[in-house]
Amino acid sequence: MIDFTLTEEQSAMRQMVRELMMEQVRKRTAEIDEAGEIPGWVVELFRDLDLFTVAVPEQYGGLDGSLVTLCVVVEQIARVCPACSMIIGVQSLGATPITLFGSAEQRSRWLPAFATGEKMTAFGLTEPNAGSDVKAMSTRARRVEGGWRLNGRKTFISHANIADVLVCFAKVDVDGKDKISAFLVETDQPGFTVDKIEHKMGMRGSATCSVVLENAWVPDADLLGKVGQGLDILLKTLHRSRICSAAQSLGVAQGSLDISSRYVQERVQFGRPLAKMQAVQMIVGRMVAQVESARCVVYAAASKYEAKSRDIERFSALAKLVAADAAMKVSTDAVQVMGGYGYTVEYGVEQFMRGAKVFQIFEGANELHQMALARNLFGSPRGSAT
Ligand SMILES: Cc1cc2nc3c(=O)[nH]c(=O)nc-3n(C[C@H](O)[C@H](O)[C@H](O)COP(=O)(O)OP(=O)(O)OC[C@H]3O[C@@H](n4cnc5c(N)ncnc54)[C@H](O)[C@@H]3O)c2cc1C
Repeated sequence: MIDFTLTEEQSAMRQMVRELMMEQVRKRTAEIDEAGEIPGWVVELFRDLDLFTVAVPEQYGGLDGSLVTLCVVVEQIARVCPACSMIIGVQSLGATPITLFGSAEQRSRWLPAFATGEKMTAFGLTEPNAGSDVKAMSTRARRVEGGWRLNGRKTFISHANIADVLVCFAKVDVDGKDKISAFLVETDQPGFTVDKIEHKMGMRGSATCSVVLENAWVPDADLLGKVGQGLDILLKTLHRSRICSAAQSLGVAQGSLDISSRYVQERVQFGRPLAKMQAVQMIVGRMVAQVESARCVVYAAASKYEAKSRDIERFSALAKLVAADAAMKVSTDAVQVMGGYGYTVEYGVEQFMRGAKVFQIFEGANELHQMALARNLFGSPRGSAT
């Protein structure tokens, strides 16, 4: 049985974040989008209100370390400002591999500073020629006395421009074979450069960076996990982070529904509000169903993760797929039922629609999750759903 009831603390957190976003951020989302950079004042706001604590475990200064709590918070942030939800989402994405695989020293060095937001992190996996096909990466780590030298290029790395440390994946030679390893690369060194920030259709308040590694130095103590353990580290990190990204998608879907459902009750055409027209009701009813279905699967996946379910890989893919598609469809329908006003920047739904698209692409493109779910089904003992 999955219990969807939030604890008192989670409900209070939900309420606090909702009020914060409505009172202090909502009116400035167009400005954030237009500026096209991470809004420093929102980062400060999140620091002041201890929101970064949801990204790390309790024993390192985190709130409760629960993925459900993280989902509750990012959902409420994304419901108003999708790009702002990346501030917490990316901090969690970088903190997770250190939490799961870091040495005691690595954890106590980084996690408390991530919890306060004093230090920021990023996750460096994707490369120009290694997107969905992560094993095609060409960044290499060479063993030298006392540590490693990394060379290569990472692309589409969220928030690398504000990160103090990059969790970076690179190939190493293990007995003549290439194996992926994970490294903690400190960014304040000459070997680390952000040489491009992408111009994007959406999520413009979240910086997406190209990183060049030129003999970047990583001491032995900053190898994450064991040599050659990188694939395991990245997969286990993504199983968790995809559920967080699914909660962000859910927020986008809910935010689109919030704005458009209010609008259709006020907008009068042909002598009555749009909300009284059956064709509009059909669309809005389907939007409600998609939002609530996404909510069920997101919190089911987060609860299963907390319960250490063996089914987590499947549920993580399921939540990511269902919620990303819901965000895309619901935000597109929101623009449609609002007509020309939905298409303007003023009402905010076009920003949701542009932002929604990326959830179908990053953290594993949706097509890959569809194939993984099918393969899982075909590989099950009965080979069918029934
Ligand atoms: C805004 C943004 C933020 C990002 N943040 C990060 C980050 O912080 N860290 C990081 O490491 N990466 C990040 N990424 C990268 C992201 O994870 C990749 O874009 C994603 O994995 C897809 O890789 P790709 O873009 O190279 O597309 P490709 O792998 O070239 O795929 C293109 C399309 O082809 C299809 N496709 C690919 N392979 C298959 C297949 N085997 N079967 C069927 N269809 C397939 C899919 O439809 C896919 O969408 C980010 C990307 C964006 C856009």
